[in-house]
Amino acid sequence: MKILVTGGAGFIGSEFVRRHLTVGSSTNITVLDALTYSGIQANLDCMASYPNYTFVRGDICDPETVDQVMAGQDVVVHFAAESHVDRSIQSAAPFIRTNVMGTQVLLDAARRHGIARFVHVSTDEVYGSISEGSWSEEWPLAPNSPYSASKAGADLLALAYHRTHGLEVVVTRCSNNYGHYQFPEKAIPLFITNLMDGKPVPLYGDGNNIRDWLHVSDHCQGIELALKAGKAGEVYNIGGGTELSNRDLTCLILDAVGAGWDRVVRVPDRPGHDLRYSLDDRKIRELGYHPRVSFLEGLSATVGWYQENRSWWEPLTASAAAVELCSLSGRR
Ligand code: NAD
Repeated sequence: MKILVTGGAGFIGSEFVRRHLTVGSSTNITVLDALTYSGIQANLDCMASYPNYTFVRGDICDPETVDQVMAGQDVVVHFAAESHVDRSIQSAAPFIRTNVMGTQVLLDAARRHGIARFVHVSTDEVYGSISEGSWSEEWPLAPNSPYSASKAGADLLALAYHRTHGLEVVVTRCSNNYGHYQFPEKAIPLFITNLMDGKPVPLYGDGNNIRDWLHVSDHCQGIELALKAGKAGEVYNIGGGTELSNRDLTCLILDAVGAGWDRVVRVPDRPGHDLRYSLDDRKIRELGYHPRVSFLEGLSATVGWYQENRSWWEPLTASAAAVELCSLSGRR
């Protein structure tokens, strides 16, 4: 099988590629990635010598590039996106361009090339905020940030290409991911690396916002199931089963790193900050999904990874710090 992975140099895409590709397997993977600030080719260095791996630096918004890399592929797993809520509040244009227009370019090329399965990787943030209960896949979309609105637009486009053109689209919506190789602007790696560097950790508002945490390997497990066994035209929620307030999450990270609450600085809340996300993921569980990494084990392994891989994240924290967006928000 030939798989085109967009955004494969990012956090989740690179995990998918590392899990999926083994030397000598009959799977071929081509990664298409523009290597924006969050795309790191070194995340895929271990694949570089594999004969069944190809890396193409290119923009999903460029129809010619997309057309060339789509030729001969069997399936597409689409991760490429602008993915950081706070950046979308600063400037929405790159989010509309990549997340909406880039998805449209990919969908058109997928149609032309007779792609057998197109997995569009999305987010629970498209549902908005929920004070009680959990979202099923039928829940109306009510995104509150430019990021989540752009992802909702892309989801609807992808589903429309199924209904209108018969493209074999599956949409996945997952909760907050964490794990190794996550860019240190996002909550968990930001807190870990700040604490390791002796800096304070900034907590948005009262810290009562609740997020469901999902280890990146479990997310990829769900995507693999959606790729193999998902029904075309359907949406699958992928949850982690660990809901935590940002305050409780902060306590767990402080414990894991061996730091105290005196390292926490309260900062004004994010505009339009969703209070709670919660997914009902029974549908993907019927395909055999269940999260395997307990949050405490996953957090401990993640802390260990950042401690052992300072050379990976240190050059990145300078660029992330420059953006001055360093608050805990349950951000992605
Ligand atoms: P990331 O920011 O780490 O990676 C995004 C990748 O896309 C990068 O490698 C970047 O270079 C690439 N990219 C960006 N614009 C591009 C363009 N125009 N053309 C080609 N490549 C481009 O993001 P991530 O956390 O790995 O997220 C991957 C996907 O999962 C996204 O679609 C995101 O919306 C979704 N998602 C993420 C989370 C989370 O918690 N991280 C949760 C839910 C959904």
